[in-house]
Amino acid sequence: MIGAAMIGTAMIGAVDIGGTKIAVGVVDGGRVLDKTEFPTDVPSGFETAMRRIGTALRECAQHAGVKLDGIGIGCAGQLDAATGLLGSVNNLPGWEHCNPVEILAKEFGLPVALENDADAVALGEVQWGALRSKSRLVFVTIGTGIGASVILDGKIYRGVRHSHPEIGHLIIDPAGPMCTCGAQGCWESLASGPAMAQWAKQNAPADRANLDLTARQLCALAEQGDEWAQRAVEHEARYLGLGLANLVDIFVPQAIILGGSVMKSAHLFMDRIRRVIEQNCCLVPYECVEIVLASLGADVGLIGAAEVWRHRFERCGGRIE
Ligand SMILES: [Zn+2]
Repeated sequence: MIGAAMIGTAMIGAVDIGGTKIAVGVVDGGRVLDKTEFPTDVPSGFETAMRRIGTALRECAQHAGVKLDGIGIGCAGQLDAATGLLGSVNNLPGWEHCNPVEILAKEFGLPVALENDADAVALGEVQWGALRSKSRLVFVTIGTGIGASVILDGKIYRGVRHSHPEIGHLIIDPAGPMCTCGAQGCWESLASGPAMAQWAKQNAPADRANLDLTARQLCALAEQGDEWAQRAVEHEARYLGLGLANLVDIFVPQAIILGGSVMKSAHLFMDRIRRVIEQNCCLVPYECVEIVLASLGADVGLIGAAEVWRHRFERCGGRIE
């Protein structure tokens, strides 16, 4: 099924499906040769999005002057990596039970693989990022939500029925805010970008009560010395640190890699995060766990999607272990 391409040199069509935008590209051994992106436009429906993805894949391959050997997809939310079926996805309403793998495999006559986008990004970082020699890693993306992936000996850790563990929904504070998942006090409800913004609004001084600032705006304000924004940063760093301390206690991995939009302001959070880990991980060698930032930059979604294909067809023989 892999065709004439040598192991590691396949030309992969990469598709990164998020709630807001879809990125499509052609990736060759960790390099993006051509790419494009467009709004996900969820209300226009899954079929319309798939037609646009198909067209974009053909255009990117043509611009790059290559023939595709396979297609890898990273997609937000619940999904079944074995069948390609999408599950219930908060930010892709109406797409449940749709199957991007089946459609693209039929259209292109190529092997296609799908994984959760956190797993895709983790595979990209493990293969091409700064920590490629490590074998026990946890990757955490902190943005609109918190997504995480556990990579053991170069492979994605899966639960029963190939399920992707939802580490963003670890309960950190049972008395905490209601989470979009229906539980209370999940890590995501306390330490995602929107959670930081919500905490700041609820704890704003009277003269700021009507301000709706994003996590990014709060970070910028904190850098200018604003006391309220600095308290929001302190709160965010504490709850990021508590979730990460749990991961250190559970996995004691060689490294935890942090990515996502909130981590663009990582310099504001890292000292406090490390202190929280130090204070709470008393029984494990936490000092051996590197806490580092993702190193692949803006193309990580596409590089990760291509790695989804390589992981499945080059390293796991086309099987889901
Ligand atoms: Zn939750």
